[in-house]
Amino acid sequence: MPLHLPRVGVSEARWPSIQERVWNYKPFTKKLTRKGASAVACVCDRFRGVLPEAAWSATGHVAVRGYLLTGLSKKAREVASANSKETIFPGKRSVVEHATEAVLSFWEENVISSAPWGGVEGLSERVSWRANQEWDLHSSTIANLHHITENGVRELKRTYGDLVWHCEDHQYTRLVGYCPKLYASLFIDTFFNAPDVFRVERVSPGGAARQVGAVLPRGVRSAVPWAFRGRTFDKLASCRCIPKSKKGFTTARCIIDFTGHPLKRLHQAIGRILKDVGIEVAGERSFNAATTVDAIGRLR
Ligand SMILES: [Zn+2]
Repeated sequence: MPLHLPRVGVSEARWPSIQERVWNYKPFTKKLTRKGASAVACVCDRFRGVLPEAAWSATGHVAVRGYLLTGLSKKAREVASANSKETIFPGKRSVVEHATEAVLSFWEENVISSAPWGGVEGLSERVSWRANQEWDLHSSTIANLHHITENGVRELKRTYGDLVWHCEDHQYTRLVGYCPKLYASLFIDTFFNAPDVFRVERVSPGGAARQVGAVLPRGVRSAVPWAFRGRTFDKLASCRCIPKSKKGFTTARCIIDFTGHPLKRLHQAIGRILKDVGIEVAGERSFNAATTVDAIGRLR
């Protein structure tokens, strides 16, 4: 009996999407929280008379949808106006590199001898030679297809690299470039100047977790012990904001991302408890209410 079942094939790498290559709001907000808003400059002067009227937000800063950008080649325009989930067609060098790596690791994982090829180096040379040949054949058949290229991405970043790239609310696959000053003020207003939504607390993640635990009713911890088991609260959840075009980019939607965070379990637990309580209290009754808030009002 073999010690393991070998993998059957060599799989192609997953190529990055436009989002992954162009969106830069993450490093930007990191820098913003570290250095403060005063370190962020408005770049709009450069775009006056260049970008159309629709590229400006109600506050007079740039908030430009990719398809409105001017002065780009066809390839870069395609990147800017495509669905940003689309993947980027790799260049010859990346394809050859990835193919060679994939074949070599297949050889290694399945303990196949590379001796007939003159060792690992010989095998590697042989595979990249073959990949090069395949590429020429491949690229001649796809030459006329519409696709997003690395060159287009590079040109877009070179020409409009001083903007903060993200999407807009309700249009999560649309590429939008924001003046850094505008994006910074939206981020700060969303998280720091909205006391009815977020309260600023000077507290460590562990301290915050203890506070959350303290406000929970007694029975909760024993009803859902799995939500508390073996978790250390040593990091914060990540957050981001998505500007709203409906309001002329003067406000943004806040998103708190609990992926991989210990509080995620607690959220699930509370959701489950609320559902159970809802069934117990409301039963099969209908409230003839348009929203949850209305229904709660009637229930009261
Ligand atoms: Zn500006």
